Amino acid sequence: MTIVSAYAAPSPTEALKPMTITRREVGFDDVQIAIEYCGVCHSDIHMARNEWGFATHPVVPGHEIIGRVTKVGQNVSRHKAGDWVGVGCMVDSCRNCDHCNEGLEQYCAHKVMTYSSLDPKYNTMTYGGYSQQVVVDQDFVLSIPKNLDPKAVAPLLCAGITTWSPLRHWKVKPGDLVGVIGLGGLGHMGIKFAHALGAKVVMITRSASKGQDAKALGADQVLLSTDVVAMQEYANQFDFLLNTIPTRHDLNPYVNLLKRDATMVMVGAIEPVEPVNCGPLVLGRKSIAGSLIGGIAETQEMLDFCGQNQIVSDVEIIQMQDINAAYERMIQSDVKYRFVIDMTSLV
Ligand SMILES: [Zn+2]
Ligand SMILES: [Zn+2]
Repeated sequence: MTIVSAYAAPSPTEALKPMTITRREVGFDDVQIAIEYCGVCHSDIHMARNEWGFATHPVVPGHEIIGRVTKVGQNVSRHKAGDWVGVGCMVDSCRNCDHCNEGLEQYCAHKVMTYSSLDPKYNTMTYGGYSQQVVVDQDFVLSIPKNLDPKAVAPLLCAGITTWSPLRHWKVKPGDLVGVIGLGGLGHMGIKFAHALGAKVVMITRSASKGQDAKALGADQVLLSTDVVAMQEYANQFDFLLNTIPTRHDLNPYVNLLKRDATMVMVGAIEPVEPVNCGPLVLGRKSIAGSLIGGIAETQEMLDFCGQNQIVSDVEIIQMQDINAAYERMIQSDVKYRFVIDMTSLV
C-alpha cells in the first residue's frame, strides 16, 4: 500500500480539504498512474454533497483523470511507464454480463465507479482523481493521443464520452440537423462532436450571449428557446436533439422541434422533469431517450477520433486548493467550459 495526498469531502456538509488515502500495490494487471490533471464534473459536487443519496464519505471526487504511467504489472502490454493515459468514470465491471460482453460496461449492474464505489475485488471504497496517484486495471485505462494537450483531454473522459456515445448510437451523419440544448461542459463537447461528424449544428439556448460563444465552438446557427416565433419556425425540423440541461425543466418545447421518428436524448438531467405531453410523441412517432457515458472501447474510439480531428475541451486550469470556490462558480455556470485541476499543485 502507498499513502498519497488527496482532497476529500469528509461529510456531505463540509467543504473539501486535504486528506491522505492509501492506494494498492501494483497487481499483475494493474497500471499505476501519477495523476497530472483532473477535470471537475458536476457529478463531483452531487457526490461530495450526497445529493443523489448513494455517496459514501469521505468522498475523493474526480473521474476525468489524466496522468503518466509510473509502473505496470507483468500482464500489462498496452501501457508502459511514461505513457500519457486516462481514466474515466469506471475502474472495473463484472466482465461477464450481456452489457460487458457487448462493450457496454457503463450499463453493468456491478460496475465499479471511479470514486465512492465499493470495489468487491479488494473490498475497499474507490477514491477518485483529486489525488496524486491511482492504480487501475489495465482494461479500464485509456491511451491518450500524443498530439493532444493532456490537460484539455481530461474532460473528454466524462463530458466528452457522454456526448459522443449518443451521437454515435443514434447514427448522426453528415447533413443531419442536430440541436444541442444547453451550453456547459457537456453542451460545448456536443457542439464540437456534432460539427466534426458533419452535421449542421444548432445551439439551442435561453441566453443570446451563449449563442455567440456557441458559434465559435462550431455551431452553425443559434436558436433562442425563449423566442416563440423562432421555435415555431424550427418545428419538426431536427433529426436529433442532444439535451444537456442538468436540471428539471420542460421538455415539451423541444419535442416540438423533432422530425417524425427523431429522438431527443437526455444526458444532463438524471431526475424527474416536468410532465411531458405524449400527444406530439404519438402523432410524430418521436422518442425521448437517455444515455449514460460510454463503454471503454467506445471511449478509446472517441479519444482516437479527437486525436485525428484535433478536438479537445475548452478548459480553465485551477489549483487543487481552489476547488471549493470552483464548485461555487460551477453552480453559477461561471466556467468556459470545464475546470481542470493541475494536480501537481497538491503536495
Ligand atoms: Zn462526470
Ligand atoms: Zn457486467
